[in-house]
Amino acid sequence: MALFSPTRAKAFPYSLSFGSSPELATVGVPPIQLRLDEKLTGGAVFAANTWMLQTAPSTFVADALAPGVVSLLYHEARHAEQWFRMARVLAGRGATAAELSKRLRMDPTVAALAVERPLREGPEVREADVWLRSVDSKQAHKAEARAAASLGPGQAARLAQSLAIVQDRSRDESERRRAFKDLQAYLREQFDYLSISFERDAYNVGALAAGQQGGDIASAASELTRMSFDELDERTGH
Ligand SMILES: [Zn+2]
Repeated sequence: MALFSPTRAKAFPYSLSFGSSPELATVGVPPIQLRLDEKLTGGAVFAANTWMLQTAPSTFVADALAPGVVSLLYHEARHAEQWFRMARVLAGRGATAAELSKRLRMDPTVAALAVERPLREGPEVREADVWLRSVDSKQAHKAEARAAASLGPGQAARLAQSLAIVQDRSRDESERRRAFKDLQAYLREQFDYLSISFERDAYNVGALAAGQQGGDIASAASELTRMSFDELDERTGH
């Protein structure tokens, strides 16, 4: 049964159905398994070492087609595409499956498939090289760990709510100002994480899939943290 088939994401190269990801295969990426994980308190996570996208059951409770769910799952599925591409690029430079599995912390079977399809030139290689620099960066790993630790249950929903409050002009101004402060504090805290190349890319892909406005998340976050409430209000008020 297709639990998840976002119609708005049709133009995108892949979508997910429950249990597998046929459209990832159409862009040449080994399908990932989608698993509900009772231990997760919220959200979703892609694990390259098991080639599996684990999501909290609560992700699907509200509305499986909600933009937040669409962007979340596409974000994670994009990580699979990124990891496979990086593996193919390294394979093109002579890396073995065992080396790929170790460096990218990747399922050995998937690593072996990448070795069969080495990628040596073109814009896809240049993009993968940018991601590889983040994969090898200790700072990026620290930022990811900090972000994971601070993203408690319900955090994403709370942020979405803050944003909705800020944008809702029928609400009390003091309430909107409070929500804006909340949002800025979060973005400031997460900025290093949002700036990691493969996370930026995955966020942008998620937003596109959900039909949300494009634009780079790290730049938007940086702009928002510098802006005052009044500036924001003026800019969005017309
Ligand atoms: Zn991510």
